[in-house]
Amino acid sequence: MLELERINSFYGKAHILSDLSLKVERGEVVALLGRNGAGKTTTMKSIIQLVRPRTGRVLFQGRDLVGMPAFRAAKAGVGYVPEERRIFGALTVLENLEVGRQPRRDGAPHWTVEQLFEIFPNLAERRRNQGKAMSGGEQQMLTIARTLMGNPNLLLLDEPSEGIAPVIVEQMAATILKLKAEGLTVMISEQNLHFARAVADRAIIIEGGEVKFDGSFTQLEASPEIRDAYLAV
Ligand code: ATP
Repeated sequence: MLELERINSFYGKAHILSDLSLKVERGEVVALLGRNGAGKTTTMKSIIQLVRPRTGRVLFQGRDLVGMPAFRAAKAGVGYVPEERRIFGALTVLENLEVGRQPRRDGAPHWTVEQLFEIFPNLAERRRNQGKAMSGGEQQMLTIARTLMGNPNLLLLDEPSEGIAPVIVEQMAATILKLKAEGLTVMISEQNLHFARAVADRAIIIEGGEVKFDGSFTQLEASPEIRDAYLAV
């Protein structure tokens, strides 16, 4: 579904991603792991084109996204949930979802508000509440649900477990597993190895803008030297 081919991304003169290549298959949940500043967020931004790789290709369902405006990459079926929550505080939960609605014509999954309320029961209970009245974790869930209203085929979640209460972290993991069961392809960026292992099929470790490991969590567990070198555990 997604293939990054030797992408090189920069902020000004700073060379952040170096010949980074990776693949994500349809229906997979893949975790991007790595320490602060390793390049996880830049990798996601390079997919959705908030950062434009200077060289290399981002093949998504056979199309190269490089050079498209980010809204076109989104229309092509990539949903991006940044680390900072993006909700409309003055709108209700229901209104926030309606704002995210994006009809798609190409046979992509098609979420309705009621289906999303089944997956996010907390949001269903609070559908008439204003966004700003929700906890940080609930706002994060609402951001994800609103992104799903755009009917993406690939969901990019940047550090979904960061800065939210432990009970919500558990709900977040359960939610990602439900989305996987619905057939959605998901890439998460994570510092929390425990969370990543609970939801993802595969781990990709990034350090210094390069892929240092790509394999199963079983393989990763069998290589403590990799864990110690690249992860803050
Ligand atoms: P984090 O967990 O902190 O989000 P990350 O793995 O997602 O880490 P990135 O945010 O991709 O890392 O950052 C990779 C590198 O790019 C870091 O060295 C960071 O300082 C640098 N960087 C990030 N954003 C910018 C920017 N807007 N301008 C210049 N440098 C940046």
